[in-house]
Amino acid sequence: MKLQNYINGRFCDARGGAVREYFNPADNSVLGRAAESGVGDVDDAVAAAREAFDNGPWSRTPAGERAAKLFKLADLVESRAEELAVLDTRNNGKPLREARFDAADTAACFRYYAGLATKPQGQTFEVGDPNILCQTVREPIGVCGQIIPWNYPLLMAAWKLAPGLAAGNCCILKPSELTPLSAVRLFELIDEVGFPPGVVQLVLGAGDPVGAALAAHDGVDKIAFTGGGVTGRKILIAAAGNLKKVSLELGGKSPNIIFADTDPGVALEFAMFGIFAGQGEVCSAGSRLLLEKSMAGEFLPRLAAACGKIVVGDGMDEATEMGPLISRQHQAKVLGFVAAGTAEGAMLLCGGGAYSDRRKAGNFVEPTVFVDTRPDMRIVREEIFGPVLAVQTFESEEEAIRLANDTPYGLAGAVFTQDGARAQRVIRRLRAGITWINTYHPTFNEAPWGGFKQSGLGRELGTYGYEAYTEVKQISTCLAPQKSGWFKGVP
Ligand code: NAD
Repeated sequence: MKLQNYINGRFCDARGGAVREYFNPADNSVLGRAAESGVGDVDDAVAAAREAFDNGPWSRTPAGERAAKLFKLADLVESRAEELAVLDTRNNGKPLREARFDAADTAACFRYYAGLATKPQGQTFEVGDPNILCQTVREPIGVCGQIIPWNYPLLMAAWKLAPGLAAGNCCILKPSELTPLSAVRLFELIDEVGFPPGVVQLVLGAGDPVGAALAAHDGVDKIAFTGGGVTGRKILIAAAGNLKKVSLELGGKSPNIIFADTDPGVALEFAMFGIFAGQGEVCSAGSRLLLEKSMAGEFLPRLAAACGKIVVGDGMDEATEMGPLISRQHQAKVLGFVAAGTAEGAMLLCGGGAYSDRRKAGNFVEPTVFVDTRPDMRIVREEIFGPVLAVQTFESEEEAIRLANDTPYGLAGAVFTQDGARAQRVIRRLRAGITWINTYHPTFNEAPWGGFKQSGLGRELGTYGYEAYTEVKQISTCLAPQKSGWFKGVP
């Protein structure tokens, strides 16, 4: 199956006709070929979006009409949810039960922003002059480049397109070159809804040149990026040319703090869910388990035993609880971190390897837990983005907070305890943008998502995510115009 770009309301090959293969990470078989775009294709997409924004109807279409298109898209996504989930599982590797959740959440995201488009916006201000009515309105930013990673191919597309389109922008989506499949199916549904030509574009291809060209393009007004910190920094620099608005959702090394008064079953389940959901390829993964020392003796053997029972396999198998990593290259990187952990003196509690059975054709890595770690080890400091958990222990609330914040990242974090006041004390001191008490990972379209420190710039989702696709305009109206006498020569 050959996947195409979508520019100015129609599917098309890359200008030069180049293609790239994309794979199934469960066995590394070729699933198909996708357009491999270049700078010229980005120019075409930007020209279409520019024309649609500057001269087309979309940005001035009543919000209710924009909302109607997005509601229709949500319904189509919902009606194709199983098909979309299967595409993500085949191309990304995640278990079907997770991909089904993503597909449902994708429909909900389009629906949420469709609803938000028609809600009251803007403010009025008391400015100390009774003759002036001072107001703000929110207007679309313009042409938005949207670059997304491979870990949530469908859902990340919705997180970007839904608020961007709801607010009246024209969008250009660039999926990861590793996971183009569900994005193309989504654009078939977008085509079926029938947005005006140029309102929404898809450009497939590599980060450099496609993403880099979008980030640098003078015809792009905003760039929204989700991905790694190294790429995020390049985008920030590229965007400086025309001072684009930039939002960045980057990585993390998030602490999952468990106090000894936590129900043991709850502690075990969320320690595992925090890191092994999505094979650990989740920006908000609870990749550092901070355990109160008094519970470690009993807890760790139970953790090792439970990790050994995780069903690791092809995501298409309904029994699978954890799938393969995205690529051979990423598998090698994750195993490299495991080797570094051992070399630096950490102890493997369980896992640590690939599989030698029939799973060796895929990019599987065992659920892995390190104990006896030190805060300066690479496995404690760096984002591994795989199923590798580093356990740290603490003896006091102060020590837990100090260890939790000892990271350049600040995306997410959780605390588990039955002491409600302590939970609040700890969570309020955590330097992170997304936090949970007595749970891990729930994510809501209605609530802001993003990081402190080096985990990003700005927020997605909720009203914050909508506002990030708007400019604020001040309108001050003089209610009783009269001459001020400022210039003596004016009669
Ligand atoms: P990546 O940074 O390599 O790639 C992300 C996207 O950027 C891809 O589409 C890629 O093609 C593109 N890209 C690569 N180089 C580029 C360049 N020079 N200019 C413009 N675009 C470029 O990241 P990845 O490996 O796809 O994803 C993993 C990373 O994403 C992890 O660090 C993870 O933490 C992060 N992530 C963050 C969130 C969040 O919400 N904070 C969500 C998912 C993933």
